[in-house]
Amino acid sequence: MKPSKKNIKNKKQRSVKNMANDFMKEIVRKNPGEIEFHQAVEEVVSSLTTLLKENPIYKHKKFKILERMTEPERIIIFRVPWLDDKGDAQINRGIRIEMNSALGPYKGGLRFHPSVNLGILKFLAFEQVFKNSLTTLPLGGGKGGSDFDPKGKSDNEVMNFCQSFMTELQRHIGPNTDVPAGDIGVGAREVGYLFGQYKRLRNEFTGVLTGKGLGWGGSLIRTEATGYGCVYFAQKMLETRNELIEGKICAVSGSGNVAQHTAEKIIQLNGKVVTLSDSDGYIYDEDGIDEHKLAFVKKLKNIKRGRISEYADKFNCKYFPGKRPWEVKCDIAFPSATQNELNEGEAKDLIKNGCICVAEGANMPSTPEAIKVFQKAKILFAPGKAANAGGVAVSGLEMSQNSERLSWSREEVDKKLFAIMSSIHEQCAKYGKEGDYIDYVKGANIGGFIKVANAMLDQGLV
Ligand code: NDP
Repeated sequence: MKPSKKNIKNKKQRSVKNMANDFMKEIVRKNPGEIEFHQAVEEVVSSLTTLLKENPIYKHKKFKILERMTEPERIIIFRVPWLDDKGDAQINRGIRIEMNSALGPYKGGLRFHPSVNLGILKFLAFEQVFKNSLTTLPLGGGKGGSDFDPKGKSDNEVMNFCQSFMTELQRHIGPNTDVPAGDIGVGAREVGYLFGQYKRLRNEFTGVLTGKGLGWGGSLIRTEATGYGCVYFAQKMLETRNELIEGKICAVSGSGNVAQHTAEKIIQLNGKVVTLSDSDGYIYDEDGIDEHKLAFVKKLKNIKRGRISEYADKFNCKYFPGKRPWEVKCDIAFPSATQNELNEGEAKDLIKNGCICVAEGANMPSTPEAIKVFQKAKILFAPGKAANAGGVAVSGLEMSQNSERLSWSREEVDKKLFAIMSSIHEQCAKYGKEGDYIDYVKGANIGGFIKVANAMLDQGLV
């Protein structure tokens, strides 16, 4: 008896599913204990099943696209010795992952945090490849960092560390090779010290880092770009349901670069920000955080390097130690602190309290179980690789300005940022549309994947 069309389709689907299962088993075997990396790969692979079924070239044994995408092109691990203020030697570990250069020089931030390890940086580098592809700019993907903790260190200690870190890293990076930027624990101060040491050792002034100071090669709007871009993306999602940021109650987590500028843009668009947090707890300001209060947060976090609890003391609002803000009533949530900071129970709380939209400012802040809750409830949900791509997009624009030796105006960069976020939204909608619902996770993964995969096919087995 001839097999029916339906049987053939089911068989094909089973074979792709089996392939995905075998593939994930191999990822876990090759990268033991790297749970965040497994999580990031699994999310992408499960989004790609239909695409792989319809385009067998992407899973052909001759090309092994997915196998290559999940194996970094290069990993550099090095010792970072430095002297603390007491004159004692301190030793940290530095890592740079050069993940994929199919679309351009490796590009991605440096994270300085005690939790940094190979698995976390691999997940970040892997996500970065898709994110950079979505920006439509010629950027490959990478990520790096150290288990160094800038918290509680003097400026002098941070400088000593950054100089030692760059003394090794400089051999491996360059404006056409690998262009790092900031991430958690790496802001304007650290980028300045890193750039100074690169320039001193190489005797050249080039765009080797982005997020530089405005007076020496930085781009206007780069500092604001991740947060602003995330709110632009949320605006685009809301538009699909005839909604606006205006009048919406917004819960933001974190109080660093991304959280500050997410809050700033929401305030500009007449939304109401009621929370901010750090790793010790969150503040709940029912009256809303306005420009004046946000200026206090910027000074507190960027200059005084204090704790968010001081906001509650200053403005007489509630502070919840050891807790995360997802229990408050809000219309939109912007997780903007770190990975896996929003779990299944918290996702259910958000839905129960009427949340209609979640835009990830951080990288992978929602657990896979939390994402399932959002998607089942059919609320608007944007993964970090789409929603927070504004930061790397303006880094790409900083590279262009450095190459031209020109600087563009604030309005020009902001306009380009908005256009890039709109185009990422379009790509997500194109590849993620399922009836009247947009699966932004699937859309971002497929949109990001196709461009990188095609470039890899063109460039041969490298
Ligand atoms: P910052 O270092 O400026 O701020 C990080 C914030 O998150 C701080 O408030 C910090 O609190 C909090 N945080 C960090 N780790 C934890 C933790 N384990 N638990 C709870 N809170 C934590 O970093 P950014 O704002 O630059 O980065 C935030 C997120 O956005 C990260 O996921 C990053 O990868 C992502 N991102 C950043 C981009 C950028 O341009 N900067 C671009 C794209 C994504 P505390 O001070 O107590 O540690």
